[in-house]
Amino acid sequence: MNGTPEGPGPVPGSVRPPVTERQAVGRTAAELHDYRAAFNTARLGMAVVDREGLVVSANAALGGLLGTEPAELTRQTAARLVDLPADTRTWYAYREVLRGRRSSFRCTRRLKHADGHSLWAEVSVAPFPDSSQVLLSVADVSDRRELRARLRHLQMHDPVTRLPNRTLFFERLSAALDPAACDRPGTGRIGLCYLDLDGFKAVNDTLGHRFGDRLLGVVASRLTHCADQTGHGGGSGHLVARLGGDEFALLVEDSTGTDQLAALAASVLAALQEPFDLGGQRLSVSASIGVVERAADGTSATGLMQDADTTLYWAKADGKARWTLFDPERNAHRMTRQALSSTLRPAVDDGEFVLEYQPLVDLADGELKGVEALVRWNHPQFGRLTPNRFIGLAEEDGSIVQLGAWVLRTACRQARAWQLEHPSRPPLFVSVNIAVRQVWDSDLVADVAGILAETGLAPDLLQLELTESAVMGSAGRPLQALQDLSDMGVQIAIDDFGTGYSNLAYLSRLPVSVLKLDGSFVRGFRYDAGSHPNPADEMIVEALVQLAHRLGLTVTAECVETAGQAARLRRIGCDTGQGYLYSRAVAPAEIGALLAGAPVPHG
Ligand code: C2E
Ligand code: MG
Ligand code: MG
Repeated sequence: MNGTPEGPGPVPGSVRPPVTERQAVGRTAAELHDYRAAFNTARLGMAVVDREGLVVSANAALGGLLGTEPAELTRQTAARLVDLPADTRTWYAYREVLRGRRSSFRCTRRLKHADGHSLWAEVSVAPFPDSSQVLLSVADVSDRRELRARLRHLQMHDPVTRLPNRTLFFERLSAALDPAACDRPGTGRIGLCYLDLDGFKAVNDTLGHRFGDRLLGVVASRLTHCADQTGHGGGSGHLVARLGGDEFALLVEDSTGTDQLAALAASVLAALQEPFDLGGQRLSVSASIGVVERAADGTSATGLMQDADTTLYWAKADGKARWTLFDPERNAHRMTRQALSSTLRPAVDDGEFVLEYQPLVDLADGELKGVEALVRWNHPQFGRLTPNRFIGLAEEDGSIVQLGAWVLRTACRQARAWQLEHPSRPPLFVSVNIAVRQVWDSDLVADVAGILAETGLAPDLLQLELTESAVMGSAGRPLQALQDLSDMGVQIAIDDFGTGYSNLAYLSRLPVSVLKLDGSFVRGFRYDAGSHPNPADEMIVEALVQLAHRLGLTVTAECVETAGQAARLRRIGCDTGQGYLYSRAVAPAEIGALLAGAPVPHG
């Protein structure tokens, strides 16, 4: 604000017409008397200044502002009285007005009263229309300035803790990251501790908001103390701000590296560990802190805050009461999740998914009976992705409904195509994985009926794989859907059996026909140190198979990788095998080749 000239710019040529004699004598003595009286009694400080810049006469108000008799001001250099030379631009503008090359200008200056106190003055300079003199006016705007400063302080500070608030914090952060400020002296780095009290909500809820506010106040002063202790030479420390609720930030400008931030975060944790004594109530709290430290160049305020937020979330997730340093790799993982989920929806329409099929083999005779359809995503950026990377995301954002319908249609169409291409062979059934949300959020029964009708596939050649959690979730709609599907002739399989409830009795009341034993059972066929099979694992699986058979279910074993495993599963009575021993999931053409005669390895 200091000394910035305002008002219109320089005007070419003279703005003052020459004084004519007729004009000068046109004024009556009475008029002149009135003007002088008005000049002297005006509340606005004024001085008439000649073209040399010397005061011709000053009024009482100006004398009052400067703490001197008006007469004392006569013949003084006007510009010095109001400190105009202190700023080159103001000084230049002022002289342009004196020379008649500019019509007027205005600026704000800090002036010193003779008694030592200072005041803010708005200074304007304007030429008299018909003379070579100019009028200098000086208004005391101290009150206005102070009011504005107080308003700004209120806007920028939090009333509860008196700390800088979010607005001021972001102002300071943006200034620190401003590329224009990059060549100023300093380390060119920035650091941030982003802090959140653990369990503050419980304090507020149980002890009341007033108590909560007092706690925040004490927390704020402990944080300020930490910042001052570790700040530059104990003087002006790092900025401590309350960003809202129980969130605080400590901003370290010109940080020297992660060590400095780690030390600050550790000192904050230690300071908050001391119990709080609030009006006789002793209370302990802890905090979680996300720490970010990096070069200011290329860092944006939003980017920094986002990373701080992520890091704080990690600190909470890792068990609270700790500080955690931002880790780009951990973040990249999160970013990939985000990148995947944002590209998921259009990917179905864009044809980025493909199905592979994995043989399901009769353990007794090694015949290929069916295939499981397994979806893959040919992602334009990340390459071929396995379902574990995206099925969960698709369930979260609901796109599984659309993706699942595509899988179902494609698999049924493929199974029907194989059937038509190899009419002399018994047809293969196709087993399709169904996500929980498909059972709930779509009209699965209608979808399946429509797809079977459209592709011409017989219902008993379609098997749907659901996990235990999908069928056991509730006794309502999903069960009715299962019953309807089963009534239609579709086979229902329980996928990954053994990882969930494993409640066989319950399963007996459901229209389920196949149990797919989770891979962990087969992998459990371990050999002891002496190379003897562990009989305990085998007994469990054997009991399971017998029970399933008694309930009328057939059993498929997943993850069969060795001939030894296949032999034992066969002995136990398992019906079907699936696993790398027979084949990995392959493209449809390879299944076609198997159907055309290539033998399936028989364990
Ligand atoms: P799942 O239904 O249990 O499928 C079997 C998984 O085990 C497949 O992994 C398969 O490649 C793998 N596998 C097969 N044989 C072996 C073996 O001998 N050893 C080992 N270690 N693994 C074997 P994939 O293809 O990565 O699928 C993972 C899961 O993704 C599936 O588990 C299924 O739950 C889900 N999924 C796959 N496709 C779909 C789909 O179209 N819709 C839905 N909702 N889920 C699907
Ligand atoms: Mg499956
Ligand atoms: Mg499975």
